[in-house]
Amino acid sequence: MADLLNFFIDLLYPRRCRSCGRSTACGRPVDRSRAADGTDLRGRPTDFFCDKCAGDIYPIKSPLCTVCGVPFPDGSGDDHPCFECLSQSPGYTAARAAVEYKGTVREAIHLYKYGRLRAMRKFLGPLAARGAEAFFPDAEIAAAVPLHRRRLARRGFNQSLFLAEYAALSLDIPLDLDGLSRIRYTRPQVELSSAEREENVKGAFAVEGDEFAGRRVLLVDDVYTTGATVRECAKVLKESGAEAVYVLTVARAV
Ligand SMILES: [Zn+2]
Ligand SMILES: [Zn+2]
Repeated sequence: MADLLNFFIDLLYPRRCRSCGRSTACGRPVDRSRAADGTDLRGRPTDFFCDKCAGDIYPIKSPLCTVCGVPFPDGSGDDHPCFECLSQSPGYTAARAAVEYKGTVREAIHLYKYGRLRAMRKFLGPLAARGAEAFFPDAEIAAAVPLHRRRLARRGFNQSLFLAEYAALSLDIPLDLDGLSRIRYTRPQVELSSAEREENVKGAFAVEGDEFAGRRVLLVDDVYTTGATVRECAKVLKESGAEAVYVLTVARAV
């Protein structure tokens, strides 16, 4: 009955794919929980994307760096630390991302962040939850990479906080809302080169209180690009006594 009702709703108000613009109403039942490669997506991606675009999603696969999580291009052998992580510790304990920052997920993150489409958290949040369960099941407290209050006022929401909420709920751990904050306004990292990014976020974060002391912290962000932001956050979390800092992002630039 509900299916029949949905069929008529789709017929009257065809939904458009947020990525390619095609109508997602086709009148036949589709598996709304799996990408084309069989990846469990849960968040009903076809609420936003057509079947074709829902398959344009790329989970990050082993072999990868056991520290920063970068996948190795040759695609064979075991996980091991990469050259960069061996020569200098990134400051966090480990970083992992659920999927590659391309295709439909890239489109979704753009709509979410720059198009301020809050509803997109229903698609991206479950990816964060799945990553938390798969990579960091022993995390004890979650926190989101904070926005400066000026940027928060402009965007209206912290995109990473919604994602951290999904991750914290899936692990059944508390989500800290104000222990980690951004104390300095910085230029958007997306405009900067790798070296500039490092400089840009230096001293931008601070920890207040002792919520993180002696605990394994799950630090959540939307995208891992150069890692400059999360490295700087990890530094202050460690200084405040965090036992471990796990970095979880929905996507990673590969
Ligand atoms: Zn599409
Ligand atoms: Zn590495």
